[in-house]
Amino acid sequence: MELNARIPSGPIQDKWTKHRFDLKLVNPANKRKYEIIVVGTGLAGGAAAATLAELGYNVRNFCFQDSARRAHSIAAQGGINAAKNYQGDGDSIYRLFYDTVKGGDFRAREANVHRLAEISLNIIDQCVAQGVPFAREYSGYLANRSFGGAQVSRTFYARGQTGQQLLLGAYQALMRQVAAGKVKMYTRHEMLDLVVIDGVARGIVTRDMLTGRIESHVADAVLLGTGGYSNVFYLSTNAKGSNVTAVWRAYKRGAGFANPCYTQIHPTSIPPSGDYQSKLTLMSESLRNDGRIWVPKQQGDRRAPHEIPDSERDYYLERYYPSFGNLAPRDIASRRAKEMVDEGRGVGPSGVGVYLDFRDAIQRLGRDVIADRYGNLFEMYRNITGDNPYEVPMRIYPAPHYTMGGLWVDYNLMTTVPGLFAIGEANFSDHGANRLGASALMQGLADGYFIVPLTVGDYLATAKPPTVDTSHAAFRDAEAEVARRQDALLSVNGSRSVSDFHRELGRLMWEYCGMARTADGLKLLLNRIPELREEFWRDVRVPGSGATLNQSLENAGRVADFLEFGELMALDALERDESAGGHFRVEHQTEEGEAKRNDERFSHVAVWEYREGAAPIRHEEPLEFEYVQLAQRSYK
Ligand SMILES: Cc1cc2nc3c(=O)[nH]c(=O)nc-3n(C[C@H](O)[C@H](O)[C@H](O)COP(=O)(O)OP(=O)(O)OC[C@H]3O[C@@H](n4cnc5c(N)ncnc54)[C@H](O)[C@@H]3O)c2cc1C
Repeated sequence: MELNARIPSGPIQDKWTKHRFDLKLVNPANKRKYEIIVVGTGLAGGAAAATLAELGYNVRNFCFQDSARRAHSIAAQGGINAAKNYQGDGDSIYRLFYDTVKGGDFRAREANVHRLAEISLNIIDQCVAQGVPFAREYSGYLANRSFGGAQVSRTFYARGQTGQQLLLGAYQALMRQVAAGKVKMYTRHEMLDLVVIDGVARGIVTRDMLTGRIESHVADAVLLGTGGYSNVFYLSTNAKGSNVTAVWRAYKRGAGFANPCYTQIHPTSIPPSGDYQSKLTLMSESLRNDGRIWVPKQQGDRRAPHEIPDSERDYYLERYYPSFGNLAPRDIASRRAKEMVDEGRGVGPSGVGVYLDFRDAIQRLGRDVIADRYGNLFEMYRNITGDNPYEVPMRIYPAPHYTMGGLWVDYNLMTTVPGLFAIGEANFSDHGANRLGASALMQGLADGYFIVPLTVGDYLATAKPPTVDTSHAAFRDAEAEVARRQDALLSVNGSRSVSDFHRELGRLMWEYCGMARTADGLKLLLNRIPELREEFWRDVRVPGSGATLNQSLENAGRVADFLEFGELMALDALERDESAGGHFRVEHQTEEGEAKRNDERFSHVAVWEYREGAAPIRHEEPLEFEYVQLAQRSYK
């Protein structure tokens, strides 16, 4: 497997400008001769499909929801970063670049991150032009707030519904192209395989989720904007439908998988309340602008929060990290919360939680200001827990949330399979070992609106893919494989539900490959997952048939893939014998309990190559740091 990142030469601030000029163009009259498949209608996929169609390409856009605008991106709450420096507080492209490389614990490519910071400015302009209702100051300027890992305010937001508003912007652009006949929309279609002909991506196989029909779609290039895989943990803040299938199928057809073990555990989710819960709800990081996190100083203190005086509270993030305080990055804030709970100082009925308290902010700013900033999040919290956060501190605890790992891509966002591109959360590109808050929306939109529409053109103009159609044997073979797999799932006729297996996998992943990982635990996990997979294929119960809407069947296919993927994730976590960002190997920590990297051995991207019936091969893409000095991260 060749890993040529194709990073342009020259000074970092000129690379993208120069590269854009060097990219080959497709003549406007020729663009309409090309067919492009975009899987995903979230911020990455929706933005890419709309922009490619606007440029003149013919686009087919797929999603498994009943509407493009129900993609998981709609759930994003707190905001989107951009180095506009509207606050005049010292922000710049370079500072956003630096914060992101440092926040990712020096495990991201400098060139990609700098490009992201540059494009962040364009994103805000684009979205404002679309009518996205970002919050504004009294003066009319766009408002900003702070997110973790930054000492400037650069996060643009629309109350606690930023993802929804951004997605509506992208959706309007997309629908304009649907109406113009340039985008053909395939909702309720699940991609179940990638078709590769002569080593090049030439299409996909889908299942129509309403009729069960298995169909082939041919194209000149295929883009995957299919989101992240946090649901490997079963309980996560992601939408229930988010899954690994599309990227896993691509991996099995030759696309390298980068850093699968890099997962983000978000510090502020509502704690689980019982064994049979199916989903966790995020409380946005933006709440940490005004909320203060604390636990009682004394172990086992069961008093109500208002009965515990300030002198007996431990505002531990403020204590550990006086400079960043409650806005320490996510990996660090999560680990410290776990530490408090492990020490027996957790709060709430289960003791698995810490407080996020708005008492001081309400006293300082008044209830109306807080309601203005976070009203919908407070309401959501109250509906779920029954507690009123204006009066009682919220209880929060870390939860699986985002995946920095994903398909390996070069600077053009192309995977190791020519013609196959990965964008948004589905790729690994910009966040290293830990993503900073409000940077996922920025990356998804940078990829979709500004990068991939140009780099796909370069690919088409250079590769000039020959004409093929769906009668090619590769499509027939892929269709047969999809049908075979579906029949296999339906014919097991066992006794355990799909969710039961998923829940068990999730518990194992959380226990041994979650917030803290050890070599022994990972080895145990690597033994247990194949056993669980074997039990799944022997004893799973998938009722109904493949010829109709069948959610158990859909879910079974996704869980079967998680059961394979989980093993790769554990293997990657075992092989990365260092701590970095969200990947915390207990064996490697500083005296103060922070992640301790091993730059000599692990300053690289780990990229896995699939082999049928044999162990995958681990490749390395070395990371070079020219502009940022490698150092132990400090937020003190
Ligand atoms: C609760 C929550 C709040 C968040 N808040 C923020 C925030 O404030 N700021 C921030 O920067 N980030 C935030 N994030 C992260 C951010 O929302 C996501 O990383 C981002 O929206 C992912 O966008 P995407 O386009 O890559 O994928 P998604 O939005 O997940 O879209 C995936 C698309 O792919 C389709 N798809 C997937 N698999 C298949 C398949 N096999 N066949 C067909 N279609 C398929 C789906 O139908 C969907 O259309 C938040 C995440 C969560 C969970």
